[in-house]
This record gives sequence, C-alpha cells and structure tokens, in this order.
Amino acid sequence: MLDKLDHLVKNLIMSTEPLSFFEAHALGSASGTALAALLARAVKVRRQHWGDRITYSRKVFVPLTNMCRDTCTYCSFVKSPDDPAANYMTPDQVLETARKGEAQGCKELLFSLGERPERRYPEAALALQKLGYKTTNEYLRDMCALVLRKTSLLPHVNAGTLTDDEIDMLRPVSASMGMMLETVSRRLARKGMPHYACPDKTPVQRLRTLERAGERGVPFTTGLLIGIGETWKERLESLAAINASHARHGHIQEVIIQNFQQKPGIGMENHPEPTLEDMLRTIAVARLMLAPEISLQAPPNLSSRHVEYLKAGMNDWGGISPVTVDFINPDHAWPEIDRLASSTAAAGLALQERLTIYPDFLQRAARFLDPSLTARINDMARADGLARQQCLGGAI
Ligand code: SF4
Repeated sequence: MLDKLDHLVKNLIMSTEPLSFFEAHALGSASGTALAALLARAVKVRRQHWGDRITYSRKVFVPLTNMCRDTCTYCSFVKSPDDPAANYMTPDQVLETARKGEAQGCKELLFSLGERPERRYPEAALALQKLGYKTTNEYLRDMCALVLRKTSLLPHVNAGTLTDDEIDMLRPVSASMGMMLETVSRRLARKGMPHYACPDKTPVQRLRTLERAGERGVPFTTGLLIGIGETWKERLESLAAINASHARHGHIQEVIIQNFQQKPGIGMENHPEPTLEDMLRTIAVARLMLAPEISLQAPPNLSSRHVEYLKAGMNDWGGISPVTVDFINPDHAWPEIDRLASSTAAAGLALQERLTIYPDFLQRAARFLDPSLTARINDMARADGLARQQCLGGAI
C-alpha cells in the first residue's frame, strides 16, 4: 500500500492530468507527505484557473419556510408544524429583510426553505392557503418576483428537488439556483440512517434535479455534505456524478464542500464531525476531480480553522451575510467580511465580491439567463463579471 501511495505522490507532483477515480480512492487516507503533495497540486490548479483571487457573495438570507416534509437527522433548520416557531414568512417580512440587506450593500437574496411541507402537513397547506397559494414553490416564485420588483437584489433559490415545470417557473425570476446533492449513497436512506424516510433525499431524485437544471440552462450550485456516515468511495461517487452532469450540460457553477456539524437536539448530536484533515483532503480531491472551471467553495463559518482551506485549492467563501445569521447553522456566526479579507490577504490571496451568477455564465447569458434579467445583471457587473460595487467590509 505504501509503495502504491509513494508512486501516486510522485505522479501528483509531476502530472497535470485530472485525478482519476482510482487515484482519488487511493488518497482516502493520505496524510503527511502524500497529503502535502495533494494540497500542492490542488493549489496549482486553483492558481491556473482562478488566479490569486478568492470570491464571496454578499447576501441576505430569507428562510421562506422552516417546515419540510423531510426529516434529515442532522437538520436543525426544520421545525415541526406543532412548534410555535414553524412558519412561512409573509411578503412584508421578506421585503423587510431584503431592504436590510440592500442597506448593507448585499447584491444577492438567498431563499432557503424546506421541501414541499404542504404535501405532508395540513398546517403547512393551511398557512399557504392563507397567503393565497397552493404550493410552496408558487409562493417562492412570487416572492422572487416581488424582490426583483421592489429591490436591487438578485434572487438565488435553494428549494431542493424541482420538477421541469418548477424550474421553468422559477428561472425567469432567479439569477441562479442551487440544491446540495449531499451524497449519492442510497445506504444513507436506510432505516436508522440520516436520510431515512426523506423522499427528497433519494439520490436519484436529486440527480434528476441536477440534470433538469442543466437541460434548462440554469447556473447551478450544488455540493457535498461530508461526515454524515458516507464512505470515502461514496464521497468520490458523488463528486463523479456532479462532474458527469456538468460534462453533459456545462451548468455547474459551483460545488460546496460542507462539513457536518453537531448540534444539540438533532438526531446526530453525538455523531463525530469531520476532522480538518478530512476537509482538506476532500476539498483538494474535489479540486482535482471536478472540471477546473467549477468554482470550489467551503463555508468559513463552520470551522475556526477555515483559513487552512485555502491550502487545499478552494477559490470561494460562498455567501456571507452582514445582516442575517446562517439559518442552517445558526450557532456558527459568519466571520466579519473585513476580517476574512485580511486573513485571505495574509495567505497571499485577494478577496473579491462576486454576484450570485458567476462571470463565465454571465458571458453566456443567452443560454444561462432569462432575457428579462440580462440588462439588470450586466449593470451590476464590472467588465470581468464580478460585482461592480465591491463591498469588502462588515458594513458599508
Ligand atoms: S436538511 Fe433540508 S430537506 Fe432535510 S429536513 Fe432539513 S430542510 Fe428538510
């Protein structure tokens, strides 16, 4: 095994080819010299394709509903309908949050929400009915349209699995969309596992959404949730599936590598979190397995040592809000943006603000953007496609 790893390390240093599945598999336990070689190669690829720039999106988060028909055992976002905190935000609440974001220089409004709660809970169906809707996604469409009409923000929707019709409905009112693939492991949907009885976490459903988004020309964000019980091989299979979808449609604008977090009260509250070394290994392998033009993101608020991620070839800190908490991980505050800019600079890299749609996709607007949004977004972008008004501080 050592010989095999030694040979692989030599290859990592010399080769410029993408990492094969078999090479990536052999690196599952890489540490010491092997890990250092892996990280160095990932940084080299980042430098070639993304330069010395690390991006982030200044955004405001709107948790449109915290009810969901799924019950993932690592989730602390979701509320049962009998919980007094279970809700749908009203249009006024959406606008109030959006305006706070505008006042702080945000360009993006991220709608995050549970999946189809009305199909499982009469309380959710009733709450929607009071708002004048039958489905959450129809309400989401109208809230995106409201944000576009009344504010300068660009909606990005994170609504989970979507049908063809739902994508067609949401595309004209959103600049980009996202759904974490999380994992392709069907094993994790068995009884006693994190995705048991979660219809929207069946891997085939999530892979179908990835395909549909590609077929319909949607700039798409996806990613892996690591440390929920998947094996290294299953993690690589998830990366390979994302890459294959991107090879068919060219639509994956970014991949997030997100680490599982323990939280009190969740089903997995005692499950071990991934180590920093595991995060570094996964980020670097993702950099080398995925097409290099796919932006690679790791959240800075889920590890006090996030600056280390820069050594593994990631090029984006994701969405950071100067206004709202991370509703998915509310105990983990965003780093202040000016401090993130300083620590990124200390690593020899420059923080820059991007829009929710990446420059490459804006350049191919005819395929990846609804015509009604093109002029508006072009006005917000500078010549290289990043945000025209750069905000790199905690407040403006
Ligand atoms: S992780 Fe997403 S799909 Fe799973 S329960 Fe939470 S909101 Fe629902």
